[in-house]
Amino acid sequence: MSGRISVDEARELWLHASDDELMKLAQDARARWHEPNHATYMVMRIINYTNVCVAQCDYCAFYVLPNQEGGYVLSREDVFAKIDELLVVGGDLVGFNGGFNPRLPLDYYCDLFAAVRERYGDRVEFYALTIAEFVYLADHAKLTHAEAAARLRDAGVHWITGGGSEILTENFRARHAKWKYTVADYFEAQRAIVESGMRTTATMVIGFDETLDERLEHLQRTRDFQDELLAAGHEGLFSFLCWTYKPYGTEFAGVEISPQEYWRHIALSRIFLDNVKHVRTSVLTQNADAFRALDYGADDFDLPIEDEVTQKAGATIELDLDGLLAVPRSLGYTVEYRRAERPAALTA
Ligand code: SF4
Repeated sequence: MSGRISVDEARELWLHASDDELMKLAQDARARWHEPNHATYMVMRIINYTNVCVAQCDYCAFYVLPNQEGGYVLSREDVFAKIDELLVVGGDLVGFNGGFNPRLPLDYYCDLFAAVRERYGDRVEFYALTIAEFVYLADHAKLTHAEAAARLRDAGVHWITGGGSEILTENFRARHAKWKYTVADYFEAQRAIVESGMRTTATMVIGFDETLDERLEHLQRTRDFQDELLAAGHEGLFSFLCWTYKPYGTEFAGVEISPQEYWRHIALSRIFLDNVKHVRTSVLTQNADAFRALDYGADDFDLPIEDEVTQKAGATIELDLDGLLAVPRSLGYTVEYRRAERPAALTA
């Protein structure tokens, strides 16, 4: 198989290709960008700055409603302490991720991110928000996406990542997360983020009740969006990260998909997304099984030391980072630490 594959061809591959066939095609696609036996990684921490949220997604075990018991907002000192701990274990990437908290105005975020940038400079990079939070914040502040993006960029933000996407079909959003955003909003916001000079990524979560066609629609939308960004001269989506739904303690519940299904999906994503350089595998939700996805086309991964959102839904985090890194090495990969890049548009 050569050249770009269609959605119909991707469906055929998923339904009829063996694991070995998918792996071979994904390895060929990976080799267009990366050395075959080499992978990169980061040590990072998700900082869940608030668990108060009004979106009420049925697959979420993390949130509490405003005025419900157990809601919190981290203080500046709490945030700094968590970043300091990350530096001690050798990490340098923070992902801020919280709920849609109606009591936190845009200024709260701008002040927090400016304070982090001032205190840590280039020693720490941070993914300031997910697209989902960004859409909520902009709407809440009654700003356009472009205006909100400019405010955050001017506060020192370099990255707003594609988190909160789960499955990007309007039907999935209506079934599970009808107050989160629409797919049209999601991409419109992501476009504004890119046009402001910040960088972004693509993500996906599988293992709910999504159909094969919904998975393929998500991949198609991602590839089309990347085509559009690159054609306009932007740096485009840095990476595509897929992780798996953790069903414990959620209203929707369900059962986890197998590692094999995850690996196959990583392979299909690598083959289909021929315009995205980095395909990332999720140690957060797959633990040591995540590394086998390197054979299925992934080239990069995080070693997270905290993420309350997925931990509340059943994820377990391994803190023996050397022990984790021994796994890809045992599979024949050299692994190299990667620092988050600064967007070219924001480089002085
Ligand atoms: S997934 Fe995010 S937006 Fe949805 S309820 Fe949970 S915290 Fe809120």
